[in-house]
Amino acid sequence: MSRLFVVSNRVAIPDPGSKAAAGGLAVAVNAALKGRSGVWFGWSGNIAEEPSAEPTITRKGKLTYAVIDLKDADFQEYYNGFANRVLWPILHYRVDLAEFQRSDLSGYFRVNEIFADHVSKTVAKDDVVWVHDYHMMPVARYLRARGHTNRIGFFLHIPMPPPELIQALPRHAEVIGALSYYDLVGFQTATDRDNFGRYLETLGATAIDDDGLYQIGNRQVRIGAFPVSIETDAFARRARHATRTAYIKSFRESLGSRKLILGVDRLDYSKGIPQRLEAYETLLRTAPEWHDRMTFVQITPKSRTQVPEYAEMDRFISTKAGQINGLYGDVAWTPLRYVNKTYSRSALAGFYRAANVGLVTPLRDGMNLVAKEFVAAQDPEDPGVLVLSQFAGAAPELSNGALIVNPHEIEGMAMALRRALEMPLDERRARHARMMAVVMQNDIDAWARLFLEALEPPKPPSARSS
Ligand code: UDP
Repeated sequence: MSRLFVVSNRVAIPDPGSKAAAGGLAVAVNAALKGRSGVWFGWSGNIAEEPSAEPTITRKGKLTYAVIDLKDADFQEYYNGFANRVLWPILHYRVDLAEFQRSDLSGYFRVNEIFADHVSKTVAKDDVVWVHDYHMMPVARYLRARGHTNRIGFFLHIPMPPPELIQALPRHAEVIGALSYYDLVGFQTATDRDNFGRYLETLGATAIDDDGLYQIGNRQVRIGAFPVSIETDAFARRARHATRTAYIKSFRESLGSRKLILGVDRLDYSKGIPQRLEAYETLLRTAPEWHDRMTFVQITPKSRTQVPEYAEMDRFISTKAGQINGLYGDVAWTPLRYVNKTYSRSALAGFYRAANVGLVTPLRDGMNLVAKEFVAAQDPEDPGVLVLSQFAGAAPELSNGALIVNPHEIEGMAMALRRALEMPLDERRARHARMMAVVMQNDIDAWARLFLEALEPPKPPSARSS
């Protein structure tokens, strides 16, 4: 089997001394690297005045982790600037929030070229290269320019909007269009894949089969949908274990006999947190019989605090949370517990399992792993109900059991919340069983396998057809 060469912004080097659970990308990349020899290349997370010409190498068994430092200006322009203030909003359909600056775009190209130069020096002829996410879109273009003919795949973890929105991005053909230099480009959903297919056609590409293969200039690129997932079985086990810990027991006791509604999201405008709080407020206003019988715990670790839109949203949501408790709370009941803390995956697994309702209502989300983790963590005999936005990448897979809502319609969300709180046990079990079957089958190992199979070189014509 050929070596797998993974490229992503950050690299999760295994650290035996750390109890921190790996993030979504790390779980995904580790599933792809399982049982193979490979290299994982990326940024160290450190800033240096003069980054060393050689990456820092860590070896673990058959895997090599190679990381480089970045200069402060490169990091600011590439990461905080272009990736997070331009690509993130536009790819989440929020063109209105994009803050484009030419210097940031130059920084983005510069860092991508630095990455490609390092890869170019160490990649072997028959390595399969897999590049991840919006930070790294032009890497293949630079590798091709340096003569590399390896199989190179790309997976976009966030949404791909329709071409009309992509065209709002200055020099979009060099950024998004650069994806045509890969052999395979994977998206989270069929919608994302089809949006990109239409965008390729605006660049002059033509479809040459019914399976996502396009001809563009003298190159061919295949596009496909590969919904990312979780380690379902391990997560379910983790949840069963967490329930027995003193920490989760005391959390459950703190709720008394009240039902638990749970939200878990990074503080990000894509997550629809203000609309969700309004929906809860509507429920409090219209369903007084539910007062003191439910508690909404919203866990919201802060993220990207250096981006001004995030600080503004932070203030807005904190104020709103305070208003809800001020208006509807009582000395012995806090309707909303709003927490800006990061919890371990084990603690989260216990929270999910303790919850009666999982409220996952992003305005737009690539996948939303929280939705899948919530399903995996439930007790099948007495499961909670998932209320899920139609705009989460997880919606096509989980619409067989979740209550699907439009996060822009506040009253509809409030009604779904009430329906979830009041749903009979039989219906909860049936809905959960259907979702669980999907999440068990489409777990993270299946995702990595399907992508890598699709990235294999086209089969030579068989003996029979020659
Ligand atoms: N997460 C965590 N601790 C927290 C909140 C979230 O470990 O306090 C994890 C969560 O379990 C999930 C991931 O962060 O695996 C969030 O992934 P998701 O796809 O839902 O959203 P993203 O943050 O990537 O946009």
